[in-house]
Amino acid sequence: MAQIYLEKINKIYDNGFQAVFDFDLNINDREFLVIVGPSGCGKSTMLRIIAGLEVITKGKMFIDGELVNNKTPKQRGIAMIFQSYALYPHLNVYENMAFGLTLEGYDEDFIEKRVKETALVLGLSDYLDRKPRELSGGQCQRVAVGRAIIRYPKVFLMDEPLSNLDAKQRTTMRSEIIEIHRKTNATTIYVTHDQVEAMTMADRIVVMKDGYIQQVGTPHELYFHPANRFVAGFIGDPPMNFLPCSLSNGTAFIKGCELSFDFKKLFPDIASRYNKQDIILGFRPEAITTCGDKDVPNSLILAAQTELTELLGDNANVYAYMGNNRIILRVSPYNIPPINCNCNFAIPYTSLYVFDAQTNMTINS
Ligand code: ATP
Repeated sequence: MAQIYLEKINKIYDNGFQAVFDFDLNINDREFLVIVGPSGCGKSTMLRIIAGLEVITKGKMFIDGELVNNKTPKQRGIAMIFQSYALYPHLNVYENMAFGLTLEGYDEDFIEKRVKETALVLGLSDYLDRKPRELSGGQCQRVAVGRAIIRYPKVFLMDEPLSNLDAKQRTTMRSEIIEIHRKTNATTIYVTHDQVEAMTMADRIVVMKDGYIQQVGTPHELYFHPANRFVAGFIGDPPMNFLPCSLSNGTAFIKGCELSFDFKKLFPDIASRYNKQDIILGFRPEAITTCGDKDVPNSLILAAQTELTELLGDNANVYAYMGNNRIILRVSPYNIPPINCNCNFAIPYTSLYVFDAQTNMTINS
């Protein structure tokens, strides 16, 4: 059992800089929670606070109902994996994995049994005699994981553990870490700036910006129901398109171009609430289709000038301009529009997001 409650955690560093503001979250037993956000948003600070490596300035942390603010990492039953792996170069895989247990004075037979069990789970049984320099990046990563799970931690913390691997290794290790989580059942908190890792691995994701939680939810919730413009833009690659608009008597005028459309027909409540105000219209690149001269039912049709196309293999990116607004579309590789053409694009009404231009909060869901 390891259920973690973080109650209004604030962190102010010695130089007076506040890195985390009122972080309030309940992490369920056995949950795989991913904290994601741009560089400097406070992810690692939060992880180090949970580990007990950083003092909480204000707020409380509980593990299974017990206040742990003043407990050491070891007393908390927490194991942490760092980006650098931190393996001992002069020790072989067996000795690296055994190191913590040896220090704690466990007997040789017990240590050997645990190292062999752990190596089996991680596919390292054939590498126990090798030194870290004789291993691939992915294998080093697995040794670092092994060193942490060998102690059966209640909580497992990982700080960007895949950032030193190449793209292919990252994909493999992603599924391996999920598999290890399934086997160990340790509550896991995983920090990354990579939203693909967050989306593919998490039970729930916490999106942070400038020390504040922006939204907590399942990958599905964050993708389809972003709470604000930041989350909408951060989750999804290529990112969501945003068009600034002004509303007047039910019509939306897209800024920076001559286009307008009947907004009241789509969002009657918002049209009256935001009359004579600005909103931001959002839509994802993959929600758009090219439609030529055809009308597409229940879709907003907008024209844009194509500028550049990128064939990616299974799909293609099309960059286009609506006046001053650059948008990205993701289309089928069999249906790439020519460049420098004025094309019509259809966006289903159900794929439109509306944001308050002042607060940036989502206002249509
Ligand atoms: P990255 O993805 O770049 O690792 P992060 O989201 O993990 O970033 P943190 O390392 O938590 O960010 O840092 C959050 C903020 O706190 C940053 O602005 C950073 O400069 C600042 N910070 C981190 N450690 C200290 C420290 N010891 N003293 C003062 N400020 C710090």
